[in-house]
Amino acid sequence: MLVEDGLIRAVGEVDRDGADTVDAGGCLVLPGAIDVHTHVFGGIRDDSRSALCGGTTSALAFVDALPGERPAEAARRTLADEMPESLIDLAFHAVIWEPQAYRRGDLAEAAALGVGSVKLWLAYLELGIQADDDVALRVMQEAAELGMVVLAHCENGRAIDVLTRQLVEQGRLGIDSLPRSRPIELEAECVHRFLVLAGLAGATPYVVHLTGRAPLEEITAARGRGQTVHGEVCTHHLLFDRSHHEGDDAVRYVMTPPLRTGDDQQALLDGLRDGGVSTYASDHCHLRLDRDKLPVLGDFTRIPTGMPGIGARLPLGFGLLAPEQLVEVACAAPARIFGLCPRKGAIAAGSDADIVVWDPSVPSRLTMDVINDGLDWSPYEHMPVAGSIRHVLAGGDHVVADGRFAGDQHRGRYLPVSRVLETA
Ligand SMILES: [Zn+2]
Repeated sequence: MLVEDGLIRAVGEVDRDGADTVDAGGCLVLPGAIDVHTHVFGGIRDDSRSALCGGTTSALAFVDALPGERPAEAARRTLADEMPESLIDLAFHAVIWEPQAYRRGDLAEAAALGVGSVKLWLAYLELGIQADDDVALRVMQEAAELGMVVLAHCENGRAIDVLTRQLVEQGRLGIDSLPRSRPIELEAECVHRFLVLAGLAGATPYVVHLTGRAPLEEITAARGRGQTVHGEVCTHHLLFDRSHHEGDDAVRYVMTPPLRTGDDQQALLDGLRDGGVSTYASDHCHLRLDRDKLPVLGDFTRIPTGMPGIGARLPLGFGLLAPEQLVEVACAAPARIFGLCPRKGAIAAGSDADIVVWDPSVPSRLTMDVINDGLDWSPYEHMPVAGSIRHVLAGGDHVVADGRFAGDQHRGRYLPVSRVLETA
């Protein structure tokens, strides 16, 4: 392919006269990956460097609001303060962070900035971010008018609150209480309810971090009724099972929803392979072990949930899926669902020159040097990888060359979503 001015100019027989050449002999060449589910603000420089090292050249990122801040204000502040530090291209997800403060028009204001999606938390009563059905329905009605995708964290927060309080009253504060307080039935019930409400509102629902068979079956059933539904699986739910919530290392695996059984992992993997699951994401959180997690080790209700993984996601994906399947769920489908086509997610004339050269003949291992996110741990450290990244181009810049990061001077760009700009 011929790359010029940050774009792919031509694919196939190209005129190489005067051009620098990147040799991809024996390698796979794929579009720069897109991580749909990331919490990068606050650590954007480190996280975006890790992303590039792992072949992820674009991401969608949650724009957390400050107290009292409306979604569009949060997006404007993030554009000004965080975006200049990003080494990858970013589109934004608005968040409903204070559900009681939501008012109609909040989403239209965000859409006018090119924000094409919004996230609801249907759990986390204790954090004050849980949207109950009334707010969730109103948010979805406005999102439907604007053509915004609605993402939801699906767990029944009120039932989880009861179970959590009972465990705390019994003095059972160990991390093994985490899965007991958040059974998969309460995830599946919430997926069902979310999809019903989205159907009533006419909105496009996207279920984040599915963890197993029962919630996935709710998506399959809704599709069987004719509904368009997107479902996402994250790296940790594929690679780890619920035994990781017990034992000395359990603090490394604190996330919500929690880890499930081997059968659930198999259901997720089958879903990624057969189209039952739409996307493969990281749910990357910029959390340190020493500062954020270990000080509150003795109380599962106080340990910040989530783990880093933006750089590990794509390399680990080669061990899980065939390359064509991986490109679909990690590159192409993310661009289609979130309105970034044809600029992203494809190797085609006119698309951004975001390109990964993957060498399947050189197995590697995820060391902290490779992950390169500035954090003091990774749940994926030392894991074997079924190949290695040889080159990454981001917007035509050669940001990983012969396996070494060279992208400090590269800058990411904001990706406004034209679908919502036309509607708002
Ligand atoms: Zn998340």
